Amino acid sequence: MSTPENQPSANFIRQIVSNDLAINKHNGKIATRFPPEPNGFLHIGHAKSICLNFGIAQENQGTCNLRFDDTNPEKESIEFMQSIEKDVQWLGFQWTAEYHSSDYFDPLYDYAVQLINQNLAYVDSLSAEEIRAYRGSLTEEGKESPDRNRPIAKSLDLFKRMREGEFEDGKYVLRAKIDMASPNINMRDPTLYRIRRTHHHRTGGDWCLYPMYDYTHCISDAIEGITHSLCTLEFEDHRPLYDWILDKLQTPCHPQQIEFARLQLEYTVMSKRKLAQLVIENHVKGWDDPRMPTIAGLRRRGFTPDSIRDFCERIGITKKDAWIKMAALESCIRDDLNENAPRAMAVLKPLRVVIENYPDEQVELLTAKNHPQKEEMGTREIPFSKIILIEQEDFSLVPPPKFKRLIEGGEVRLRGAYVIKCEKVITDTAGNVIELRCSYDKVTLGKKPEGRKVKGVIHWVSEQHSIPAELRLYAPLFTEANPEAQSHFLETLNPNSLEILSDSRVEASLANAKPETRYQFERCAYFCVDSDSRAEKLVLNRTVSLRDSK
Ligand code: ATP
Ligand code: MG
Repeated sequence: MSTPENQPSANFIRQIVSNDLAINKHNGKIATRFPPEPNGFLHIGHAKSICLNFGIAQENQGTCNLRFDDTNPEKESIEFMQSIEKDVQWLGFQWTAEYHSSDYFDPLYDYAVQLINQNLAYVDSLSAEEIRAYRGSLTEEGKESPDRNRPIAKSLDLFKRMREGEFEDGKYVLRAKIDMASPNINMRDPTLYRIRRTHHHRTGGDWCLYPMYDYTHCISDAIEGITHSLCTLEFEDHRPLYDWILDKLQTPCHPQQIEFARLQLEYTVMSKRKLAQLVIENHVKGWDDPRMPTIAGLRRRGFTPDSIRDFCERIGITKKDAWIKMAALESCIRDDLNENAPRAMAVLKPLRVVIENYPDEQVELLTAKNHPQKEEMGTREIPFSKIILIEQEDFSLVPPPKFKRLIEGGEVRLRGAYVIKCEKVITDTAGNVIELRCSYDKVTLGKKPEGRKVKGVIHWVSEQHSIPAELRLYAPLFTEANPEAQSHFLETLNPNSLEILSDSRVEASLANAKPETRYQFERCAYFCVDSDSRAEKLVLNRTVSLRDSK
């Protein structure tokens, strides 16, 4: 964690909040919200916003609402809402109250009528295309719509009929009357409402008129009494509009919008539209595919809530965009699992070893520690027998220099068991090693052999006791650090992002291991049991390697 005392590290937003508390700005109250649009699963970028919003509330005895920003009915669903609730809770946070922008459709409508009455909004018949053309550009002022001076009574009448469903989609919009010459394009009479005959997952067919994000967000914040409305940097240019709407409406509360940098993580994408495309076009196996940067994907991959919160704390909150390396995220889960994951033995690519001088029917139950440093994690029994499996890589017929593992005629220690010696190598007709014949030194159980040094230690499992397992190894989804900078992000998809080892074997103690159980497979990597696991065949995901390869 961030500091030895486990205090959250300072950042400019925490500073603003504590200054506001010091001057009793909001009557000593802190209220934040996390406002996802239910149009996809949450990703690691959202985790940054969740940790910030819930964290600030927790640290200051404040409140934090979960608010679904559900004003685009075409793309939103109950399924996405449920996944969001689950992921926020899994990360370890509980909202004070749950709201939906759609809860405010009535007051939002009433506020819009108020703006029209104040001559600050008008019904416009320009098409979306015309509005865009009239808007101008950074170098060119916008042009006023011919409808801009429509009498208040006419706009009121049209707006009412828009709500009643008299007009087809796109016929009219409601726009704020601000300033078509403003250097900030967001202030050039932004659209507040558009007609959309779409079923809404909560309000059903009640509305055919839906409010726009900028209009909805500030009023929803004000209705909930939010004190600090934290959002990402791309909304900086929208802040004048946020403030304009609340000023003109004289809402009882005027939250302060503060922007911070989005999380950008290398070798993945974070836009929900692109993540949805990966899912819909089957480039991955779903929103919770362990290669996805979604919370659900990371959970399935084996990440813990602690590791993700630790990551968000380590990257900090700033006003400047920065790219974060995947290694930074990986080092958080590695640190967590090194501390907390029980150890086990698994052989990824097995090679059969027959111990010729070991009694045929004998089975010994050897005791192994579940964690080398943590006694409290206890021990388990590992069966040892005449035929064992070792890693193909741990034997070499033509050993490279300094090879410390098993070679023909050489000795190696089996972790937690005996020293064995390779007496004979069996190969197939093509010369591939298919089996080793070994002997064991009976007096080396937990003891050094007499008169000679055995340097290498390798892992193993007993053939008859081990359980078949499919191990899924992952690499980054993309071959470019910033796939979104490419014209076609899908062209940078990594064709080798998933490797499946289907003949692996894991030690007997993993029988009945439940999904989401995590292990360190000694000398291999950290793995997590997948929900595809069956009693006949375990399936595990490689969460992260033991060490950073770079
Ligand atoms: P997208 O554009 O991909 O749909 P979004 O920002 O619109 O993403 P929302 O569901 O609206 O997604 O986001 C909810 C909250 O999470 C917002 O306050 C948003 O600023 C924040 N958020 C989204 N992505 C990131 C990110 N990469 N880093 C930090 N915060 C983020
Ligand atoms: Mg959004």
